[in-house]
Amino acid sequence: MDDIPGLECADKLAFDSEKEAQDQARVIKWRRDMKLKAYKCRHCNLWHLSSNP
Ligand SMILES: [Zn+2]
Repeated sequence: MDDIPGLECADKLAFDSEKEAQDQARVIKWRRDMKLKAYKCRHCNLWHLSSNP
């Protein structure tokens, strides 16, 4: 993880809950065949999606 809080989250979708993030990950998987992983952000305490393995 980076140690630059602002930039870390600036261009990412953010979700209030793991469920919301996972629902969105599922939609993106259907539409683009991209596998995304939901994780809780240590910077903003919201959930983001990561395409990193
Ligand atoms: Zn964040």
